[in-house]
Amino acid sequence: MSIFQKIIDREIPATIVFENENILAFEDINAQAAIHIIFIHKKQTKNINELSSEHPEQLSQVFSAISEYTRSEGLEKKGFRVVTNLGENAGQTVFHTHFHLLSGERLGRFGS
Ligand code: AMP
Repeated sequence: MSIFQKIIDREIPATIVFENENILAFEDINAQAAIHIIFIHKKQTKNINELSSEHPEQLSQVFSAISEYTRSEGLEKKGFRVVTNLGENAGQTVFHTHFHLLSGERLGRFGS
């Protein structure tokens, strides 16, 4: 069971900032920006490609939640970035598909 499943099940604590029937979002414990939120679908897939091919409806559910959250928090005006990592070379450490929402400051360029 992944650490994110434990957050869904409330077995370990997290600062949850958004939840609906399908989606959960919580603060990243190792924030890489002033605002760093993790968005996940409650139904587990291991990465974006598995999600896209097996559960394409989850994509719009995740991104609708990100839109709703960023609008309600005024982040659309400030600007934000959404990132997902696939595989260890990209830095994926948790194998429950997730989307990093980074905002709250001027972000640097990304890459290696
Ligand atoms: P990734 O490296 O793309 O797989 O992202 C995993 C993210 O999950 C990292 O940014 C971690 O800091 C974050 N993370 C790991 N455990 C927790 C936790 N218990 N609560 C919140 N964020 C976590």
